[in-house]
Amino acid sequence: MLEDPKPRMKMKICAVGEEAVGKTSLIHRYVADKYEDDYIRTIGTLISKKTVELGGAEGEATVVDAVIWDIMGRKGFMDLLRDAYFYRANGVFAVLDTTRKGTLEALHGWLEGVTNAVGTLPIVILANKEDLKAKVDVTKKAVKDFAKGWNATLFSTSAKTGKNVEKAFEVLIHAAYERGMSARQVTVDEPEAEQPVPAPDFIGR
Ligand code: GDP
Ligand code: MG
Repeated sequence: MLEDPKPRMKMKICAVGEEAVGKTSLIHRYVADKYEDDYIRTIGTLISKKTVELGGAEGEATVVDAVIWDIMGRKGFMDLLRDAYFYRANGVFAVLDTTRKGTLEALHGWLEGVTNAVGTLPIVILANKEDLKAKVDVTKKAVKDFAKGWNATLFSTSAKTGKNVEKAFEVLIHAAYERGMSARQVTVDEPEAEQPVPAPDFIGR
């Protein structure tokens, strides 16, 4: 006899952050475990998928298809596509380049954009290019305070070496999963709850 299939759900994760902070490289590292030094500017939107298995609340596993959206870092383009890009997002990964202070300052605008479009979501902040230690242009404190202000989990990452990349994505996927589950509950119990987080789609069971 066939076993019951594991519950399966789909989740949408969106990348934000200035141009060239390493969004595409981080996704590439996470999804394919690769890094390429050639700069490939993302044209429009790139969508990747990674399947992970999470332990369920009662020890039952859930298979999550994390669909990762990556946008071109131009603000004008973002203004045009913002609502579509963030539509039904379950989590956000916000990337800054530790060698360029301006990319930390600019993250405020990106995160405000997400929040205005779809409400509060789980956020993981990736302080990227940590391998370029000699060029660091942000203080640890500034980055920590920023993450705290957005109630976000912070990781110091390198798409080049792979440091903390998998961990950062998995923390985000877990947070989005937990949040989605409780949002589902909230929607049932309190239909007028402010800014409900869209529940991930179940596509099996
Ligand atoms: P995006 O515009 O945010 O998608 O940034 P990309 O992923 O295209 O990366 C921009 C440039 O930074 C590319 O030349 C990458 O090779 C480089 N880069 C990305 N991540 C890292 C990293 O962790 N360390 C170093 N040294 N370079 C990186
Ligand atoms: Mg890119």
